[in-house]
Amino acid sequence: MACPDALEASDLLIVGGGTAGLSAGVAAAQAGGRVTILEAGDSLGGTLFLSAGQMSAAGTRLQHALGIDDSPEAHVEDIMRISADTANPTIVGLAARHAAEMYDWLESCGFSAAPACPVVGIDHEPYSRRRFVWGEDGGRSILKVLMAQLGPHLRSRRVATFLGTRVTRLLTEGPAVVGAECESGGVTVRHLARATLLTTGGYTANVAMTEKLTGYEQPAVMSWAGAQGDGLRMAMDVGGRARGRENVVTRFGAILESDAKPSRAIATFESYPERRAPWEIYVNAAGRRFMREDEPGIGSRSRALQDQPRQRCWIIFDQTILDTASPGIRGWTRAQMMAAFDGHAMFARADSLQALALACGLDGEALQSTVARYNASQQRGADAAFGRVHMPAPIMTGPFYAIRQQAFATTSSVGLAVDGELRVIDLADRPIPGLYAAGEILGAAALMGRSFCGGMMLTPALTFGRLLGRTLARPAA
Ligand SMILES: Cc1cc2nc3c(=O)[nH]c(=O)nc-3n(C[C@H](O)[C@H](O)[C@H](O)COP(=O)(O)OP(=O)(O)OC[C@H]3O[C@@H](n4cnc5c(N)ncnc54)[C@H](O)[C@@H]3O)c2cc1C
Repeated sequence: MACPDALEASDLLIVGGGTAGLSAGVAAAQAGGRVTILEAGDSLGGTLFLSAGQMSAAGTRLQHALGIDDSPEAHVEDIMRISADTANPTIVGLAARHAAEMYDWLESCGFSAAPACPVVGIDHEPYSRRRFVWGEDGGRSILKVLMAQLGPHLRSRRVATFLGTRVTRLLTEGPAVVGAECESGGVTVRHLARATLLTTGGYTANVAMTEKLTGYEQPAVMSWAGAQGDGLRMAMDVGGRARGRENVVTRFGAILESDAKPSRAIATFESYPERRAPWEIYVNAAGRRFMREDEPGIGSRSRALQDQPRQRCWIIFDQTILDTASPGIRGWTRAQMMAAFDGHAMFARADSLQALALACGLDGEALQSTVARYNASQQRGADAAFGRVHMPAPIMTGPFYAIRQQAFATTSSVGLAVDGELRVIDLADRPIPGLYAAGEILGAAALMGRSFCGGMMLTPALTFGRLLGRTLARPAA
C-alpha cells in the first residue's frame, strides 16, 4: 500500500517492519490497539531474511520437556560472564526474564526448533545450559510465524502497513514525540500516534555512519540494506543519545571482493578450530603473528583481529600445507583456491617469503623471521608466544601463499540509550515522552557487551517488540 496523503492517527506507530517491529505489531494488535507500521523496504521482514535465526531463552517449555534445568538468572549470569561484565545488566535482565514467554509463544504459533536443539552453543561461546535454538529455515522460520500471526490483523485493518515508506524525522510537541514524518512516492506524509516505537534496526549498511559511530573501517557491507541507522539518527535529533562505542566488536572477517568501498565478502577462511584446525599462521600488516590461530573463543579471535592495524591479516602457508590440509576457505575446492591465486587481489603466491611479503605490501624481513620463529616453535611442539596447540607442519616449502582476511561489522554495536522500560532517554537520562525503541537499534553492546552471545540479538528484538507492543497499544481509556 502506498503511504496515504493524509494525517493518520493510531495507538502505536511502529517505524520499521522487521524483526522487532513485526513482533510488536502482532502483540499490539492482539492487545486491541490500532497500529501503523511504516517500512522503508518493499517487504516486511528486515534482517529476518538474512539472519541465521538463532535464539536463546531460558525456562522454555521445550527445555522443561527435555528435563533441562534453566532460569533467566542463569542466562544473565552466562551473558555477563561471556561478556566479561561489559553487557548492560538492566537490558540483558529484561530480555532474559521475558525471553521464554516469547519463545513459547512462537512455538505455540507453529515455530519448531531444529532437531538438534537446544544446544549449549554453536559458533558462539557455550552457555552453561542447553538453551540455544534455531529453526530449519533460519530467520525465515520466525518470519513465517510472525506473518501468519499478523495476517488477520492486516485483513481487519487493525494493523495498517505502508511499504516503500521511509520515515525521515520524528514529530514533537514540546519534549514529547507525537509521531513521524515519512516519504512515500515523492509525497511527504505525517503519522500521529500516542506512542512511537523505533524498530529500524542497525546502521552497518551505512558505511559512513558505521565508521563515525565506531571509529573502525567498514570495508564490506553484509547486512540488510535497510540498516541505515535512520532510527538512531532521528532519535538523536530529538535529544536521544548513543552508547556502546567502548564495546564495539567486529567479526573475525572475510575475504573481500576488492578494495572498493564498500566491497562484499566473496568467501571466508575457516577460523573455527572445531570445524577445521588451522595449519596456517596469521600475520598483521607488520608481518608479525598476533594471536593463537587455534583460539577456540569467537570473541577472543574477533578482538585479536580488531586490535590490528586496519583490522586485517594475511593467512600464510606453503605448498606442503596446500597439498596436505583440507582447503581452508569455506565451501571452496582446491581448484577454486588455485584459480584465485592466479590473479585475485586478495590472494598472493611467490617462490620466496621475501617475494610473498612484497606482493602483500608486508615487511619481508619481519615475515621471514616470524615464519622462522613459528617453525622453531612447531619443531619444539610448544608455541611460547601465543600458546597455539595445533601445529602440524612448518611453513618452509615454496611456493608460499597468502590470503588477506578482513574484519567488518554485520551487526551494530553502538545503540540508542534506553531505560529499563525501553523508553528512549536523553543526555540527562530523562525519558523522552512518547518514544520507545527495540531491536538492533539498542546496539549489540547493550545486549552482549564486547563479545558474542548466542541468540542475543534476535531474542531481545522479538522479546522487546512483544513487550512494548502489548503495553503501548492499549487503547486510550
Ligand atoms: C547474516 C546475519 C545473521 C544473523 N544471525 C543472527 C542469529 O542467528 N541470532 C541473533 O541473535 N542475531 C542474528 N543476527 C542479528 C539479528 O538478526 C538482527 O539484529 C535482528 O534481526 C534485527 O532486528 P531489528 O528488528 O532490529 O531490525 P530489522 O529486522 O533489520 O528490521 C528493521 C526494519 O526497519 C526498516 N527501516 C529502516 N529504516 C527505516 C526508516 N527510516 N523508515 C521505515 N523503515 C525503516 C528496515 O527496512 C527493516 O525492515 C544476524 C544478522 C545478520 C546480518
